[in-house]
Amino acid sequence: MTDVKNNLHEVLANLPDGVQLVAISKYHPNEKILAAYEEGQRIFGESHEQELKRKHTELPADIEWHFIGHLQTNKVKYIVPYISMIEAVDSLKLLREINKQSLRCGRTTDVLLELHIAAEETKYGLSLDDCRQLLEGGEWREMKGVRICGLMMMASNVDDKEQIRKEMLTAADFFDEVKARYFADADYFRHRSWGMSHDYRIAVECRSTMVRVGTTIFGEREY
Ligand SMILES: *Cc1c(COP(=O)(O)O)cnc(C)c1O
Repeated sequence: MTDVKNNLHEVLANLPDGVQLVAISKYHPNEKILAAYEEGQRIFGESHEQELKRKHTELPADIEWHFIGHLQTNKVKYIVPYISMIEAVDSLKLLREINKQSLRCGRTTDVLLELHIAAEETKYGLSLDDCRQLLEGGEWREMKGVRICGLMMMASNVDDKEQIRKEMLTAADFFDEVKARYFADADYFRHRSWGMSHDYRIAVECRSTMVRVGTTIFGEREY
């Protein structure tokens, strides 16, 4: 039996002040989520719309849900009413849809732009140039239904710590560039979401402000 409470406290003990923990609860049962909740954890991350919908209705209302997976535009309308942050926005099309659906329910949705820096082909996300282009285009400035609050990325899934570090520092430098150019006066543009179970300790050394840890807290996922 996984000792969720103990694992949670171990992870929290490794996080410096100012780094938020998103407990990634995808494929984990409600009991485990509640165990972390009872210890004070309030931010949880899910990557499937149906599972999120079910958990959102079954679990306490003050949980802040982050959507961390690849989001299809046709699913946006289902999660927008209650999502606290959509972390992985990887296209202008998706941003437009989040804006549209948010305006429809009279709210503003916090989002992060997902960067593709890892060497793997399979990862989603915007290349640095695509991200620059999206921001330079300026359409997002008119979107009253979304607020771009920072950047998110996944490093390559490798053992080479130096490669992971290099990718995360590339993201951190890019954050500074974007912050200076487009969000210098926007306090809300402050999130750098990188670091998972196997690399979150490296991530906090690479200026992460938000780590997304699942397995280390909840154990292996039950697919
Ligand atoms: C599943 C997932 C995580 C958590 O992964 P663990 O290895 O279980 O910590 C973090 N970020 C994203 C985008 C994920 O899909």
